[in-house]
Amino acid sequence: MARIVVIGSGMGAMASAARLAVAGHRVAVYERAATYGGALGRFERDGFVFDTGPGLLHLPAVYRDLFVKTGKEPLEQCVALTPVDPASRHLFDDGTDVSLPNASRARVASALDTALGAGAGERWGDFLNRARDAWDRTRRPLLEEPLQPDWQVLGRDPYPSVRRRRVLRRDRQAATVREIGAWELAEPRLAALLDSYALAYGLDPRTAPAAAAVLPYMEQTFGSWYVRGGMRELARALYERCLARKVEFTFGAEVAAVTEKDGRAAGVELADGTVVAADTGGLRRRPPRPRRDDAGTRGVGTGRRGAGARAPGPVHGVPRAARRPPGRHGPPDGGPLPRRRRGGVRGVPR
Ligand SMILES: Cc1cc2nc3c(=O)[nH]c(=O)nc-3n(C[C@H](O)[C@H](O)[C@H](O)COP(=O)(O)OP(=O)(O)OC[C@H]3O[C@@H](n4cnc5c(N)ncnc54)[C@H](O)[C@@H]3O)c2cc1C
Repeated sequence: MARIVVIGSGMGAMASAARLAVAGHRVAVYERAATYGGALGRFERDGFVFDTGPGLLHLPAVYRDLFVKTGKEPLEQCVALTPVDPASRHLFDDGTDVSLPNASRARVASALDTALGAGAGERWGDFLNRARDAWDRTRRPLLEEPLQPDWQVLGRDPYPSVRRRRVLRRDRQAATVREIGAWELAEPRLAALLDSYALAYGLDPRTAPAAAAVLPYMEQTFGSWYVRGGMRELARALYERCLARKVEFTFGAEVAAVTEKDGRAAGVELADGTVVAADTGGLRRRPPRPRRDDAGTRGVGTGRRGAGARAPGPVHGVPRAARRPPGRHGPPDGGPLPRRRRGGVRGVPR
């Protein structure tokens, strides 16, 4: 049993803490804020509560797995999940208005055919099949496994762009979201629809890699879910799971430094000068590259040594998901902007 310090109590850190505790370690979380949850904040006023971070859950399977592996009650016993249907509504500049149903590719195709004309659904479906290939290739190495030392092999874009042969010119293959829209979807409103997914995640479709095609694939395949009472309820459930596993939390405790001994992590130093010891683990002094889900949370003392040691970062993190700006989004030609409205309740009575 190792003594392990986890920095921060965002969802990634709490997920790590719960899993480490189940593995038999003594886990102490130090959080600089006054509460747990990190980005899953809450604003309360006049008897209503509002999420200040994410509003919808797109991959409940990640949390189902976490709750199954860290305790007796499954996710659905800890929070109430409601599918958001329709998942989104799209208003295009030419007056086209389409609502996309939740988690049903067949019904999405039919809605697109009705709103955009026959064949639109099939074209979108063909694109989603290619996006599924990218998802199948990236899901395990990026979301489910620790980053391997040879992470460079992930460097090639996994989206199988359609190669277009052109007379007397070089073949053309989409490398960005915008190019998929222009060359593969080849319908301005479908292209704008694709753009909208990238924009909703804070990505610029002109530069977002083709692999960002997994975003609409994920949403339309696994669906959008509303957590009754707001996403903060998910943070509460995870916090309670951690407490049940005897994870200790200290709030208002900013970690100022990771202390080292013989080149290995030995604990943390808090901003007030307190030093907390942790068992030495495989923390490398200079990680080659930060992990995708390393948003201010670090696991110290993972108990691993040697070549397979992990760089700092949660041992198990939730996928770093998207920022969700309310958004207007543009078609590939830079023309007038359609609007996208997402389902979901923003303020709910307490
Ligand atoms: C507006 C908004 C909308 C979003 N919408 C969605 C959505 O719809 N769907 C979705 O899946 N995701 C969404 N996200 C993203 C999702 O919220 C984040 O990816 C996820 O919550 C990040 O969790 P985390 O644990 O990695 O980091 P954070 O939540 O950032 O947690 C980090 C924690 O570590 C603490 N900390 C940092 N440094 C220290 C230190 N030195 N000492 C002590 N404590 C420290 C911080 O105070 C914080 O509590 C949204 C985010 C935002 C902001």
